[in-house]
Amino acid sequence: MTETTNRVSVAGVEVSPDHFINGERVASERTFEDISPINAEVVAEISHAGREEVDLAVNAAHDAFPEWAALGPAGRLPYLHRLAELIEANNDRLAAVENADMAMLLRSLKARVIGRGARNYRSYADLAASYEERDWRSQGTWNRVQRMPAGPAAVITPWNAPFMLSTWKTAPALAAGCTVVLKPAEWSPLSCSLLGDLVAEAEFPPGVFNIVQGIGGEAGAALVSHPLLRRVSFTGSPETGRLIGVEAAKNLVPFTAELGGKGPFIVFEDADIGAAAKKAAGQYDDAGQVCLAGTRLLVHESARDEFLERFHAEVDAHVLGDPREEATTISPLIHPDHLERVEGFIERARESGENIVRGGCRSEVGPLFYEPTLIEPTSNDAEVVQNEVFGPVLTFQTFADEDEAIALANSTAYGLSGIVYTSSMGRAERIGRGVRAGVVWVNTFLVRDLTSPFGGIGVSGIGREGGDFALDFYSDLKTLQILDGSVR
Ligand code: NAD
Repeated sequence: MTETTNRVSVAGVEVSPDHFINGERVASERTFEDISPINAEVVAEISHAGREEVDLAVNAAHDAFPEWAALGPAGRLPYLHRLAELIEANNDRLAAVENADMAMLLRSLKARVIGRGARNYRSYADLAASYEERDWRSQGTWNRVQRMPAGPAAVITPWNAPFMLSTWKTAPALAAGCTVVLKPAEWSPLSCSLLGDLVAEAEFPPGVFNIVQGIGGEAGAALVSHPLLRRVSFTGSPETGRLIGVEAAKNLVPFTAELGGKGPFIVFEDADIGAAAKKAAGQYDDAGQVCLAGTRLLVHESARDEFLERFHAEVDAHVLGDPREEATTISPLIHPDHLERVEGFIERARESGENIVRGGCRSEVGPLFYEPTLIEPTSNDAEVVQNEVFGPVLTFQTFADEDEAIALANSTAYGLSGIVYTSSMGRAERIGRGVRAGVVWVNTFLVRDLTSPFGGIGVSGIGREGGDFALDFYSDLKTLQILDGSVR
């Protein structure tokens, strides 16, 4: 482990492949390969943290905590605002690096995804600073709820929206007064590394925001079991969520997990079928590597033919290709291992006789492309209906009435999101209430208000983030109770 000034050029941007610990770049002796999904070639050799690097980072966060906490929300606000400004000023550099590293469409990254990171820091700083402690009188006492910063927090993020999700979690943690150790996913760590440069440029006190790179089972596992942490916040798969939850529980550390999804996309006969079909075809965006995607198309039986005709026309118009090109609408999958995982689902579906209506094979566009795939399952118990594929794979089923739509929607172990298309207000309310999920969108998708609660039900997660829910999570809530008339 040594201090370093290593840089690699990624999409024309100089990025550090090393950790960011206590305000310094630190290199490990061991590295791992990071490939670009655009051409499956290695873009960088990344420092691989073990227990030693993790320990250094958590200790830095632990030592920096008292002063950061003592600043209070108003004292922390300028740092977070400065970081937001720097993200905006570096929008196109961050977008280029993330595009090279995980292949999200360059135009989406430039137009909205990176900017959302800046909004996260600004909004949470403002929200924390505007918090009004709730107070009331009862039983002859004056009561007040206070938020106390919890301590050093571990933040572990997945590869599919690495920059946005890392800012979504570190912003409330920092605004609430926690210090942070972020471990981004090993398949797309580079935009978060660039974030480390911006944290340094924003002159955060050393140790407030640390980043360790590494493979989940080793660096991530060492991080989440560290005894000096006071919070663990995770976004990723249910399998990893379970492992991390166990480690957090051993240290009695509060833990929040935003996990996988298998969202229903419900279309009623009274809906604008054209709009519904267009949005359904949009579930292939980012090659289906979106936790919130509505991957189970559930369509009223009377609208089946019209919906499918329009849906296929919309999918035919998709362009698989280089995610830097303006015309491209579907990008490659993240990694050869992930491509194999997606293929495994399709092979098993084929073997068990599911009807593969379109796709079901690799695309010749490039090494990691997979054709948008639609499957009509023989049964609702089919693996491809019940388990998250996290690729460009949708299933299609019909229903006869509202009760059946809700029953199908709620028939998996997941409960992250739901999408409903209808023109009836009453129906929107009934189905919205009936679907078991953290968020239900009606006639729209992916619109998010940062102050609303966000999280999953069942294997889709534990806890809620977003707005005050996140600030509460990163705080210890205290009740101050003073006997009436006893103080002046
Ligand atoms: P993953 O669970 O494999 O990895 C997520 C992170 O956990 C990575 O940083 C990884 O290095 C780390 N990790 C792995 N094993 C670990 C361990 N034992 N201890 C500590 N850390 C460990 O998930 P992924 O493949 O990166 O992401 C895809 C999954 O994330 C999908 O299930 C998707 O639905 C989910 N996801 C959920 C949301 C949400 O908001 N609910 C958002 C995006 C992605």
